[in-house]
Amino acid sequence: MFNIEPIVAKSKQSCIMIAGPCVAESQEQLVETASSLLAKSEIDLFRCGVWKPRSSPNNFEGYGLKALSWLQEIQVTYQVPVCIEIASAYHLEKALNHGIKTFWIGARTTVNPFLVQAIADASKGCDISIMIKNPIAPDLNLWIGAFERFAKANIQRLAAIHRGFSTYELSIYRNNPLWSIPIELKRLHPEIPIICDPSHIAGDKKHIAEVAQKALYLAADGLMIEVHHAPNQALSDKQQQLSPYEYQKLINELYFSSTTTLEDIELRKLREQIDELDKDLCCLLSKRFDVVREIAAYKKEKNMSLLQINRWKELLNTILNICEAKKIDKVFMQKIMEIIHEESIQLQEKIIKENT
Ligand code: PEP
Ligand code: MN
Repeated sequence: MFNIEPIVAKSKQSCIMIAGPCVAESQEQLVETASSLLAKSEIDLFRCGVWKPRSSPNNFEGYGLKALSWLQEIQVTYQVPVCIEIASAYHLEKALNHGIKTFWIGARTTVNPFLVQAIADASKGCDISIMIKNPIAPDLNLWIGAFERFAKANIQRLAAIHRGFSTYELSIYRNNPLWSIPIELKRLHPEIPIICDPSHIAGDKKHIAEVAQKALYLAADGLMIEVHHAPNQALSDKQQQLSPYEYQKLINELYFSSTTTLEDIELRKLREQIDELDKDLCCLLSKRFDVVREIAAYKKEKNMSLLQINRWKELLNTILNICEAKKIDKVFMQKIMEIIHEESIQLQEKIIKENT
């Protein structure tokens, strides 16, 4: 159990709302974004990257110190607390000198206990709030370990940010949400508020609403969303940044509920597993059909017959034998295999007939 205090004094709404650009690009961009965002929407924190951890050094990595001065002005002019990403004791010190007191630890930093410890050590005695993004790898203990490091440094204003996990698999999302991980964090540590970052999970604005809504159904305590006054001109994460208008439209359309019980969370956790497994089934079938296409090309080249009945019988037997051990009804499995086989035959037929 962590001794947690709220990261913002009093949220303006039931859910902590954090919005702002991926990164500070210029003073004008910050003024334009903050003024039009705050004219339309109530937010608790204005987010903005200053030092950006990019995969390639050839990408825009932020203006660092210069951007801190711009943000200091935003904070004063618009009376909105600003939060930024920090990845070192140096970042923390410079940000504190500019009056910034709320931070997030990025996914590429949480993954490294040396870096987290160094920031936690530098945080001792500071009056700050820290939000910890999940590590890029799906490792819940590593995520919790980062909380332990800050808790030992006596930082109590803590929150988690769920931003999804890196994946090499084909996915409609930029980062795989793996919802069962934040749900497990909630089960183990209900005291830690969890903020969802649908922008970095989705990677594309067209999926942000569905990811944000799912997070709210799963009782997320807040949302962090990237907003840029002119997303098309953004120097990073162009596809996922919303305009201030799109942001307010999203907030109007989302359903914010606050009645989730622990039992609901258990049921949702099980449903999450089903969702993940169904997606896995779909990906496996897709891989299977890729191999079928290769087989068809081979048979075509060698002029072989399409259906080799012994091979099919063998395959079916192997699968039916596994069924017993896996507690799956054989009649059911045979039906599934027949449907898959039929589809494979049709696919091969189509390929063999092509250009012949
Ligand atoms: C960000 O929020 O701008 C960011 C870099 O996030 P992450 O650490 O989740 O990639
Ligand atoms: Mn970003």
